[in-house]
Amino acid sequence: MTKALLIIDYTNDFVDDKGALTCGKPAQELEDYIVKTAQDFYSNGDYVILPTDTHFENDVFHPEHKLFPPHNIAGTWGQKLYGKLDEWYQEHQADEKVYQFAKNRYSAFQNTNLENFLRERGIKDLYLVGVCTDICVLHTAIGGYNLNYQLTILKDGVATFTDNGQEWALEHFKNSLGATVE
Ligand code: ZN
Repeated sequence: MTKALLIIDYTNDFVDDKGALTCGKPAQELEDYIVKTAQDFYSNGDYVILPTDTHFENDVFHPEHKLFPPHNIAGTWGQKLYGKLDEWYQEHQADEKVYQFAKNRYSAFQNTNLENFLRERGIKDLYLVGVCTDICVLHTAIGGYNLNYQLTILKDGVATFTDNGQEWALEHFKNSLGATVE
């Protein structure tokens, strides 16, 4: 069955020490694993999808405006994919099976054509990596759950700000969203 790897928000602002909303070291430690997993999916003929948080400066109507410092502003360094994943993406972006798109909410399903993209291609099996485990990865998993996708969370490929948040989210994926956590 065709599968898709969703690499969520693995960008400079969320990962790099100089990022505006960084998870820091736990996120940086995912770099090799995420790139290797992307390459494995790609080599296997499966899809690699990169939903990427995208905001605009001084967007006072956006609900995150009150919650977080400005981050992932369209076209900036902060919105670019982090480190070796950016290199991997530059090499493979022309391929039809590699798909990056902008999202403007935590869930990659909200306000995007992700569901159409998956349905058109008969993809029912989603594997999630990226950041933050208990925010955008969580909300994307909830979106997928509500649309009856099979979910696997690759625990070596997700990170967030706190250990509590990480542990809670991994339990929630398993116990409330029926996801495989491996
Ligand atoms: Zn955001």
